[in-house]
Amino acid sequence: MSSSLLEVFLDHAHRAPGQPLLTFERESFTYGQLATHVTAFARGLKQRGLQPGERVALFLENSARFAIAYLGVQSAGGVVVLVNTAYRQVELAHILSDAEVCVCVTGAAGAAELAPLRPQLPSLQWLVTVEPPTAALPESLAMVPFDTLLAEGTASTAPLALPRPEDLAVLGYTSGTTGRSKGAMLLHRNLLANVRAVTEAWRWTQKDRLLLALPLFHTHGLMVGLHGTLFTGASVDLRRRFTAPEVLATLRDDASLTMFFGVPTMYSRLLEEARASRVKPRALRLWVSGSAPLSPQLFTDIEAELGARILERYGMTETIMNTTNPYDGERRPGTVGVPYPGQEARVVDVRSRQLLPAGETGEIEVRGPHVFAGYWRRQDATAESFDADGWFRTGDLGEFDAQGYLRITGRARELIISGGFNVYPREVEEVLAMHPAVAEVAVLGLPDADLGEQVVAVVVPHAGTSAPEPQALVDWCKDRLASFKKPRQVVFTDALPRNALGKVQKHLLRASLSTAGTPGAR
Ligand code: ATP
Ligand code: MG
Repeated sequence: MSSSLLEVFLDHAHRAPGQPLLTFERESFTYGQLATHVTAFARGLKQRGLQPGERVALFLENSARFAIAYLGVQSAGGVVVLVNTAYRQVELAHILSDAEVCVCVTGAAGAAELAPLRPQLPSLQWLVTVEPPTAALPESLAMVPFDTLLAEGTASTAPLALPRPEDLAVLGYTSGTTGRSKGAMLLHRNLLANVRAVTEAWRWTQKDRLLLALPLFHTHGLMVGLHGTLFTGASVDLRRRFTAPEVLATLRDDASLTMFFGVPTMYSRLLEEARASRVKPRALRLWVSGSAPLSPQLFTDIEAELGARILERYGMTETIMNTTNPYDGERRPGTVGVPYPGQEARVVDVRSRQLLPAGETGEIEVRGPHVFAGYWRRQDATAESFDADGWFRTGDLGEFDAQGYLRITGRARELIISGGFNVYPREVEEVLAMHPAVAEVAVLGLPDADLGEQVVAVVVPHAGTSAPEPQALVDWCKDRLASFKKPRQVVFTDALPRNALGKVQKHLLRASLSTAGTPGAR
């Protein structure tokens, strides 16, 4: 039995070298060709002194080179650090110094972003650049063009050992939605357990061809999309980024495609584009949505207008995958389905940690071989996140329905306890979002002498409409929700603070409201 995804990939390449694997812009690679590049990249790194366990960051847009570097680092015994390409100096400095990265693979823009950070990053030795840097690099920072490294590696015979199951493969930094992002330590056996489960659950085979426009620096694109492809011997049409007209045209024209994976925003843009252009996609065997909640309305509209019955999944950096709607059975809009084969999920009371029955909301916990080995150099955070029996506290709130489908209702840290009652922000947000004057809304709890916490709504009104009266929004909630859930304060703003993945960062909102004093209803 194989002990790593890398080994499975190299086996495919050995047995069927001519099998198509990846197309990207004008390039295409068979399994054999990609494996040759991966081995050369690994030898190039080793030749230049990379030691087993050292961290190599990928600060890189989607490309075939991303895949080569990703597998090449693992093949050299290194640990991949994934970095969101939208990150700028503050986030970069945090991740690269936290992970003590010694090599970074990047493009011209990435090198320019990194150059001034040199003094803060003593461990960073050199860059591998996929295009010539436009900015001057500090002398202490060596630079090797990607193709030079490949050529050096091709000429080298440095020995490469296959990773062992317990070796660290990837440091996946969480998105930083609820605080400073942490490095999740994913071992080779975690990657393998995950990819086995997802390919089994979705009946992924070598005949599949995936259209992938999700970023590879994030779990969904990389560890579901690319990993599943490599594991099954399938193929992928990789895009630099998502653009609705291009993706929709490909979905109409390319009869070889069988799967598309996206986030909810991509689906709403595809729908808009299809309405405007009257272009319809072909029937695919699998459409997947994940990373953020897919509204039941969007699920229904996509099915009615594009003929696609989306399968919604739920995952996170620490575990890659938690639950999925069934491939064959009923897909329930508004839910994220059931655990994958070989994995467990349960819901416990936030305070007593007692198991809760179906229909009651608490924190979602998961257990199984897919769960990461802890947070990098954060024993405190690791200890807080696991119980004695190995259950991982996801930090997400949810409940099971009578049929065992999980519904996510928000984040545990964002649960508001007001006057002793639990208020789930998402429920209040959903109600406020239905008000015609509300474009966007975030609900959070602020300290309150009387209630412990009070419910506060931060509202972005629709452009062009005048902001509604705060009281009108409070009344809107009063008619639709229990009184203790209605906001005590309504604050208007132009935009909500979002991280690079578009998730609302409530801790920033909370901090700005606290420094501005107690917000008044305007
Ligand atoms: P941080 O942990 O740093 O605060 P983050 O949790 O946003 O950031 P990720 O690991 O990228 O970082 O995101 C995982 C989270 O995304 C999950 O814990 C969950 O809250 C949310 N999520 C993922 N899939 C879904 C889904 N289908 N529906 C609702 N939420 C989802
Ligand atoms: Mg998280």
